Amino acid sequence: MKSTYNKVMDDLRGKSLKELLNIFAQLQLPQYKAKETFRQIHHGLKGTIDQISILKKEERALLAEKYQLDQPQVIKHQHEGETEKIAFKLSDNLVIESVLMQYEGERNTVCVSSQVGCPVACQFCATGQMGFKRNLTVGEILSQIYYFATKHKISNVVFMGMGEPLLNYKNVMKAIGILNQELGQNIAKRKIVISTIGITEGIKKLMTETGQLRLAWSLVASFDHLRKELIGMKNLPSISSIVRAIHDYQQKTKRRVTIEYVLLKGINDGPEAINELAEITRKIDSHVNIIPYNEVAGGRFSSGDAERIYEKLKRRRVNVTTRQSLGKKISAACGQLTTK
Ligand code: SF4
Repeated sequence: MKSTYNKVMDDLRGKSLKELLNIFAQLQLPQYKAKETFRQIHHGLKGTIDQISILKKEERALLAEKYQLDQPQVIKHQHEGETEKIAFKLSDNLVIESVLMQYEGERNTVCVSSQVGCPVACQFCATGQMGFKRNLTVGEILSQIYYFATKHKISNVVFMGMGEPLLNYKNVMKAIGILNQELGQNIAKRKIVISTIGITEGIKKLMTETGQLRLAWSLVASFDHLRKELIGMKNLPSISSIVRAIHDYQQKTKRRVTIEYVLLKGINDGPEAINELAEITRKIDSHVNIIPYNEVAGGRFSSGDAERIYEKLKRRRVNVTTRQSLGKKISAACGQLTTK
């Protein structure tokens, strides 16, 4: 689809229903048409203002004087089995990637990006090696999901694509609010996962959100010194401060947290590291998801033995699963997204 972006224009896709009602009031357009316009954008997935059928030609023209529906352009499309990866070119020519994973006809999950590049700079992650360019707008976050929603009923959304979602908190939460709307995609918050490296300020803010949003903590390593070696971000919160933030979060929300553990052979899979991982799980209500490392071009890591670590944690009575990696051949699996 051709991008018709004009930087002066404001993207209607990023407006909440309340904001859209205000815009319609200011333009002296009927309020019932604002609701229907919202429905046509977020449920009907209309891609341009011209396609909004509830509006008369002159009403569309009035709206189009100030607003547009920004439409990222698909520049690459790759498939592997039930996994589909799309590269989108944004209005400023930056590129992001998003992935659809279909699980045996039961679930259609979109792995969505929240930033272009990532400031966290994990050494084992292709996105982390790109550097950080900018936060995505609300419309850009939603557009990734809507692209797949034109073809499939989307049941789940995971903020595990490019970027650290809690460092783009406002836009991510606004996009989730719109996804959750009955007039939109109506995706329940309990079907949405936010994966963080452990941004404590963001975890504290999450406590105040309504609904059953799910939180995943990408632990990476069970000792602070090793975490600092593997994660480039300055002022990385310590494991104990993240545990405290999650503890407070759980006091308020009563929600179990997933601890994601990317297995790096010879680095974080030794007996001491795994024992410490088991200790951390005792401090919070959690479940460990072991993620076999997915190779990236030029990377110096390889995956540890997920089966062995799984058994070891089971013996220590840790609630544990191993993640099924989808889309490795098209570099769509965890840690492989990049636009380099
Ligand atoms: S693993 Fe996640 S947090 Fe780390 S660099 Fe990659 S995208 Fe950023």
